Amino acid sequence: MKEMLEYQKLEIELNKLKKNADNVEAKNVMAQMASYVKDAQNKSGKLESDASKLLSEYETLKANYDKTTDQVNNILKNDVGKMSAEEVTAMFGEVNKLSSDLFMLERKLNFIITNAKQLLKNFEITRNNVKKAKIKHREAKEQLDETIKSYEPKIAEVEKKLAELEKKVDKTLLAKYKTLKSENVFPVFVPLTQDACGGCRMNIPTSRLSKLNADGYITCEHCGRIIYIQK
Ligand SMILES: [Zn+2]
Repeated sequence: MKEMLEYQKLEIELNKLKKNADNVEAKNVMAQMASYVKDAQNKSGKLESDASKLLSEYETLKANYDKTTDQVNNILKNDVGKMSAEEVTAMFGEVNKLSSDLFMLERKLNFIITNAKQLLKNFEITRNNVKKAKIKHREAKEQLDETIKSYEPKIAEVEKKLAELEKKVDKTLLAKYKTLKSENVFPVFVPLTQDACGGCRMNIPTSRLSKLNADGYITCEHCGRIIYIQK
């Protein structure tokens, strides 16, 4: 029983070391940064598709603008001297209409240019934030690796002790211990505390107490832990 308790103590120590080696804070930062980068990548994809829509809108409007400009230039090539007063009036009417079309097209084009500039700015901001997030992720990863590395020798030492002790402990007790541990009953061995189970605090009947005294240990009927007498 003495070796078995030492074994359990070492396993508790090992669990504590493993828990400390698991740098939760660094892991959280890593997860946050990874999720940010993923979102940003989706956002960049959306910005790219917006930009390509804007470009095609721009090209359509620009073609329209060039065509209208050509129409105006062609009309203005007419020799006014050879035209009747009605023809001249009609011609100026046509030019005026086309001019106002050009004005509207120009406004739309400027609007697109402003939007494109804003898009580009957002794109830059996102790209810079992704860079920062990647740096933070790398730093957190380095911290995590460092923490793990700093605990490695201690963990190895305890694991070695456990392996050595495993050869000495009572095989029956070790088997019981491993079964209960695999069922998430931990610690498996608890001392008798004021005639009660040291794990679940359930009182032990007198008949069971004499069995405990005779055998050195009993199984708690309530929580399944193994109760021993602390010397
Ligand atoms: Zn119990």
